[in-house]
Amino acid sequence: MSAHPTIAGFGYHEITDDPSASGFQRTGARPYTLTPRAFAAHLDQMAASEARPMRVTDIDFTRSGRCLVLTFDDGGKSAVHAGDALARRGWTGHFFIVSSLIGTRTFATASDIRYLASCGHVVGTHTHTHPDIFPDLTPERMLEEWRTSGDAISEIVGAPCLTASVPGGDISRQVLESAARAGVQYLFTSEPWLSPRDLAAGARVGGSRGRAVSLHLGALALTPGDRRLSRARPLLPQGGNVPRPHP
Ligand SMILES: [Zn+2]
Repeated sequence: MSAHPTIAGFGYHEITDDPSASGFQRTGARPYTLTPRAFAAHLDQMAASEARPMRVTDIDFTRSGRCLVLTFDDGGKSAVHAGDALARRGWTGHFFIVSSLIGTRTFATASDIRYLASCGHVVGTHTHTHPDIFPDLTPERMLEEWRTSGDAISEIVGAPCLTASVPGGDISRQVLESAARAGVQYLFTSEPWLSPRDLAAGARVGGSRGRAVSLHLGALALTPGDRRLSRARPLLPQGGNVPRPHP
């Protein structure tokens, strides 16, 4: 078996004391919101461990080792706060943007997104319209969602959009293949895997081969498995429970 890293990830959404000011406003979004204080406590715990959040694009997938990645889905206005909280510690995160919502009342503007990128954070796509059940789309519609948003984000940050996260986190073979066809090289899912897997299930798509990544809570000590990156949701501040698939 070839060497590969074990990657633990934490999938955040809004970091705010005022959920009405950032991100999706439906009720289902609230459980995914952390206060800045609770988020700071998470970062303190990371700082007290050996783990340091890093960019997925900096991970050497041919070597073993343990890596920690932090992601922030949806691109709500609080992304700037989260990015600054990481930057103050010299850390970087991943911000996944819903491109049709850029600049709307509770979502980051193009200028905010450029700022995040200028701080060294990875900016990727979370699709164009955040379809409720992404795996239910036709492969053509999936591809369109990735391409439209990837193009918009690439235009804003002035660099190719190579990273993505799946709305709702649910995947299918078509979801993985559509992302690979759109040029995504690192796809964050919500599968409970700690090891990266080939994005297109072994099929080479467009000559490139991406990887699917997930975030899994508290999984830093687990042993390597097969090849895919996976995400888990962070614990709620009250502790104990892991939220259901995100808004
Ligand atoms: Zn989302």
